[in-house]
Amino acid sequence: MTTAAVAVAPVPSALNASVLVLNRLFMAVRVVRARDAFRLLWKETAEVVSVEDETYNCYNFSSWAEVSEHRRRFQPDLHEWVRTVRFDIAVPRVIRLIAYDRVPRTRVRLNRRNLFARDENRCQYCGRKFKSSDLSIDHVLPRSRGGHTVWTNVVCACLKCNVKKGGRTPKQAHMRLVRKPKQPRFSPVITIHAGSPRYRSWKQFLDAAYWHVELRD
Ligand SMILES: [Zn+2]
Repeated sequence: MTTAAVAVAPVPSALNASVLVLNRLFMAVRVVRARDAFRLLWKETAEVVSVEDETYNCYNFSSWAEVSEHRRRFQPDLHEWVRTVRFDIAVPRVIRLIAYDRVPRTRVRLNRRNLFARDENRCQYCGRKFKSSDLSIDHVLPRSRGGHTVWTNVVCACLKCNVKKGGRTPKQAHMRLVRKPKQPRFSPVITIHAGSPRYRSWKQFLDAAYWHVELRD
């Protein structure tokens, strides 16, 4: 925040809560921390989108502060709260960039973070869960056999399974994949959040993106 009005005695976890960002057309574009969401609201670059009884209501910073006051009193469990000098403000679940038209990238970037999130940190051979530092990336069809680094050919593997498999295909190594690797439709990080009850309101925006994405062959 550029002002002293907010974040005087911040609850760190609340300022780190995840907020879904939509473009002007209500399509999910990314996830930011609450502190960044408040910054965008304060600059009037974004507004809060609150899903209430199946309808979307939009609020600017000051009207959101008013809504917060009401909810603080009657529905305190609905939100995480950030304490300011004069009032408590609710961390919004969803915000919308007022002037941002770009359609979100439909291709999810293939990186370690997204790959581990897609596979939920599970080795795709033994099915066990590991810390990220104990996982490696396995090419299902090994690179030495012409396998590419694409969503459908890479999986998480624990070090033990990776060594066991070596430069072989799963069939040659007599190892079976827990599930077939797929290209995710949305950032797996967004998808995981949408599965939790707290972030239920995200889901419809992801579905909306699904219906609006231009089809190509
Ligand atoms: Zn394993």
